[in-house]
This record gives sequence, structure tokens and C-alpha cells, in this order.
Amino acid sequence: MSGKKVLVVPGDGIGPEVIAEAVKVATWFVDHGRLAIEFDEADVGGAAIETIGKPIAEETVAKAKHADAVLFGSVGGPQWDFLDVGKRAGDGLLTLRRALGLFANLRPIRVPSALADTTSLKRETVDGLDFLIIRELTGGIYFGEPRGIETLADGTERGFNTETYSTDEVRRVANIAFGIARDRGGWVHSIDKANVLEASQVWRRAITQYHREEHADVRLDHMLVDNGALQLIRNPSQFSVLVMGNMFGDILSDGAAALTGSLGMLPSASIGAARPDGTFQGLFEPIHGTAPDIAGLGIANPVGMILSLAMLFEFSLGAKSDGDRIVAAVDRVLDHGIRTADIAGRDHRPVSTPEFGDAVIAELSKG
Ligand code: NAD
Repeated sequence: MSGKKVLVVPGDGIGPEVIAEAVKVATWFVDHGRLAIEFDEADVGGAAIETIGKPIAEETVAKAKHADAVLFGSVGGPQWDFLDVGKRAGDGLLTLRRALGLFANLRPIRVPSALADTTSLKRETVDGLDFLIIRELTGGIYFGEPRGIETLADGTERGFNTETYSTDEVRRVANIAFGIARDRGGWVHSIDKANVLEASQVWRRAITQYHREEHADVRLDHMLVDNGALQLIRNPSQFSVLVMGNMFGDILSDGAAALTGSLGMLPSASIGAARPDGTFQGLFEPIHGTAPDIAGLGIANPVGMILSLAMLFEFSLGAKSDGDRIVAAVDRVLDHGIRTADIAGRDHRPVSTPEFGDAVIAELSKG
């Protein structure tokens, strides 16, 4: 059986520590004959700057394009974050996302019952939460032109950026949202600011028409972003799938992360257009950064990374049931009270990163 190609990019800080646990889990599926995977590995970010003087090599971009998926740790650190634009550690990640044409960022927000007391919100607000935020990743104000800073006649400055969305950009990310919503209760909330912004008016018109034409079996509701922010905190369980532009997604998805106990819990996927077999080219990474404050201590929470692997199985390898099996194993580990320091309560003895990974393997082995 020829294997699927997965490019593993550990990165910097806690990246290598957490990705080792995800690779351990992936290897379990290979060793048990469930999946055939060929792993390759590459340096991106600070790790690449230290060896080749730039955040990513052309060869790494080529390897990523050739791979079925990229499993990504995290990149960055104070020594590389403030270099010139294009030379910073994070530029390696942006280069990869652009080269792979990844236009939709998926962030599942899940709160297993075992962790419903670790957040700052009431248990009844967050217990059992399970919804998905889909953020358009390559358009909107972060890329719109013109942009710049000009000096005015009186010597003060004026900064300007341009929010743009075209019908096609909206349709392709909406297509992913409607497709996923069919497996998640069939309801999409589209978030915009159509009462103020023309770009949002195009967004709303485009998604409404596309819904009418091709996805009328899914329920579509619109919500203004300011109300969306409020509802995500007040009554998050009303949501199933949310889709929104780049900046709104950037802000609301970090806000929604606060519904869960720790940044270390949350996975993400960045995907592009579907391949003919229905799988997606994708890059899968936890939402957290390199956590320099705890790097090297062996105490990082690997859950976000391991759940990113589950998303890789589902979206890039077409192995959703194996992905679901990982999610269930992680939930059982948490149910047993096994916690890394960031999510440990007073009654828990925190385990190390590898101990948590071993506990996931033990649960997988129980079947
Ligand atoms: P961070 O996510 O690295 O850390 C924020 C806080 O959360 C820290 O206290 C950290 O210890 C904690 N934390 C994060 N992940 C954790 C985990 N898995 N287990 C336990 N605790 C965890 O964010 P930051 O401090 O703003 O950024 C640090 C570096 O990471 C910067 O160089 C930044 O550029 C980089 N960064 C990279 C990415 C990426 O690669 N996609 C994303 C965000 C930040």
C-alpha cells in the first residue's frame, strides 16, 4: 500500500515537544495497519533561520506542495519576531499557506464535560460546547489594496487599509461551510457588518444567492459581527458552524478560544479547494504559539496538536473515523483526570507532555 505523504514541521519553542506526541499517535495508526503514512520533516521559522538564514527553504515549499498534508507545530520567538518583513519566523508559515492556496481556516471550539470548570465562564454556558468557526484566510482587509501610511501636511500621519470581498472569494469559503454543516446539524451562521461596510454587503449578497442556488437544504442565518461577539460569550451553544471574513474571524476565533480552558487545547486546519476524491490539501496546527515561557520544560499541553492530527486524518486523508477515534481517546484521558499543568485543577497531579501522549496511546489501544 503506498502511503499518504505527511510533511512534519516541528518549528520552535514547544512546537517540537507537542508535535512529537502527535507523531506518536499517527505512528500508532500506522503500526496497527489502519493507515499508511510516509513522514518527511522540515525546518520552518526560527529553526530554519538558524540553519539556512531564512524562515523557509524553497525545497520545503516544494515538499509541502507534494505532500498530502502538512502537520505544523508552531514558529517564532523574540529573537526572530522583529526581523525585517519577509525574514521573520512567522513569514515561513505565511509562505506555506500562500503556496498551498489555503483560503479557509477551521477552528473547532469544543469543551469536553471534564473541562467545563476550567474556564472563566459558568459550567452551564460551556459544558459540551461543540461548534466550528470558519475564517476566510486570504482576502479582506489584511490583503486589500491600497494600504499604507502617509504623512499629512501638518506632519501627522494617516494610516489606511482596504476591506474587499468578491463574489467568488465568498462562494468558495461558503462552499466549505455549507459542506461541513451538512455533517453538523445543517445550520450556518454567516457573520458580517453589512449595516456599515460595502464589502460586507457583497459578502451577504453572495452567500445568500449561493445558498439559494446550491445549498438550500442547509439553514443559513446572518448575524452582525458585534452581536456575534456578544452571542459567543452569552449563549455559545446556539452555534454549529460560523463563517466569516478574515479580520472578523481573527478576532472572534480568539475570543471563542476563551470559552475553553487553555490555548493548549485548540486545534486548527487551513484548507484549500477540495481534491477530486473529496479530501483537501491542508496545513494542521494548534492555535497556540511557541510558548517560550515553558519551552523545554516538558509541560506543554499537546491536546491542540493531537486534535490537529485528528483534523488532518479527516480532511486530508479521508479518514474521519480514525480522527474521531483520536478525539474520543483524548476525551477519555481527560475524563480520567489526566491533565497537563495548564488545565490541572487542585486535585490533579499534572503530567508531562510525553505522559499525556502515552495516556492517549493507552486509550487508543483499549479500542
Ligand atoms: P503563545 O500561544 O505561545 O503563549 C501564550 C500563553 O499560553 C503562554 O503563557 C504559554 O505558556 C501558554 N501556552 C500556549 N500554548 C500552550 C500549551 N500547549 N500548553 C500550555 N500552555 C500553553 O503566545 P505568545 O506568547 O503570544 O507567542 C509566543 C511566540 O509564539 C511568539 O514568537 C509568536 O510569534 C509565536 N506564535 C506563533 C504562532 C504560530 O506558529 N502559528 C501563533 C501564535 C504565536
